[in-house]
Amino acid sequence: MKNRLEQERMERRNAHCERLLRPDCGAVGRIFESHQGLLVNFGSNDYLGLATHPELRETAYEAAKRWGMGSGGSRLLGGDHQLFHQFEEWFAQEKRRERALLFNSGFSANQAIAVALASSHTTFLIDRLAHASIIDGVRLSGAPFHRFRHNDLTHLEELLSRTEGEKIVWTESLFSMDGDRAPLVEISRIAKRYSALLVVDEAHADGLFGERGGGVIEELSLQGEVDLALSTFGKAYGSFGAAVAGSELLIDALIQKGRSFIYTTALPPPAVAAAWRAMQIAQEEPWRRKRALELAERFRSAMATAGGSTLQSASQIVPVVIGDSGSALDAARALQNAGVWAPAVREPTVPAGTARLRINFTASHTDEDYQQLLNAVLKLPPFSAGGER
Ligand SMILES: *Cc1c(COP(=O)(O)O)cnc(C)c1O
Repeated sequence: MKNRLEQERMERRNAHCERLLRPDCGAVGRIFESHQGLLVNFGSNDYLGLATHPELRETAYEAAKRWGMGSGGSRLLGGDHQLFHQFEEWFAQEKRRERALLFNSGFSANQAIAVALASSHTTFLIDRLAHASIIDGVRLSGAPFHRFRHNDLTHLEELLSRTEGEKIVWTESLFSMDGDRAPLVEISRIAKRYSALLVVDEAHADGLFGERGGGVIEELSLQGEVDLALSTFGKAYGSFGAAVAGSELLIDALIQKGRSFIYTTALPPPAVAAAWRAMQIAQEEPWRRKRALELAERFRSAMATAGGSTLQSASQIVPVVIGDSGSALDAARALQNAGVWAPAVREPTVPAGTARLRINFTASHTDEDYQQLLNAVLKLPPFSAGGER
């Protein structure tokens, strides 16, 4: 077996697909110290710049002083907490749903949703670009699933019309690798037409869209059409954890049957307190989401002028398609030499031939940061006149 793992490792290395940890790369903050010197961070999901916000630090500190760090157990066996219930009540109201439930992460929430909702006559219909946590959850549930072509309503409808029994349509509102949005109004209409349950993962959209930052569902007033909505706290909300909002019946099913909810230690109270405060700041300070989205828009225009592809990006996440994995790594290295951190995303995370730089804009980026990024990207071979063809 060791030989096989060694063999697999060599193959990944040769294909430029090895995944590498970066101890010098702080996920938060607009600038971090690396072995290449200071890098401006365009790789963070801290979209609203809240992870290092003084009020979040203070809130977490106060919560830790009051309640300690660990919750001490699973929620069903002694790790439950008044704070969790107060938050869930507030969150359900904000989301205009009957009930909400905390999860340790978006990953484990998606597992619980799949496992709790599936029966022997349930079929899942999932967008082809859906996050690994959705795919893994569905696989774990044992129920059959079909993947519809990315954002392809005709394909979704075709699959639904051929599916018997219970149907669950599951998509993200904003896709994390392409930065594009799902046509949620149309998807919700189709789901209704085929009596399918609709689950929407707002991991990258929550905090950024909607008048109060409540996500794409809020922006489109689809609260009544989406059966379960997932928000995560580790991205725009600068903390850690997740919450699902929906009807009393569905949330109760998650509590009764969601194994990744039942058999795990509850979140640390400071993480929940900080996420809660972050949501309030996001509501009170709309300039944060406007800033991140405006920088992304500016960058997409510049890329269009330069003849680059940013796919269908319509959010704070902007891919710059490079092509093969090796070239994408070279491009990421060139950016690092120019003082900019933006990760190369390669196979198998994205389809072969579409390896890319993924550039995340945040509320913390200054105009100078933006210019530094743009200058560096325009010097990459696909864009600079002097580059190889
Ligand atoms: C990040 C992400 C998750 C996982 O959330 P965590 O809280 O980081 O575990 C789930 N779904 C989508 C679409 C994501 O982007």
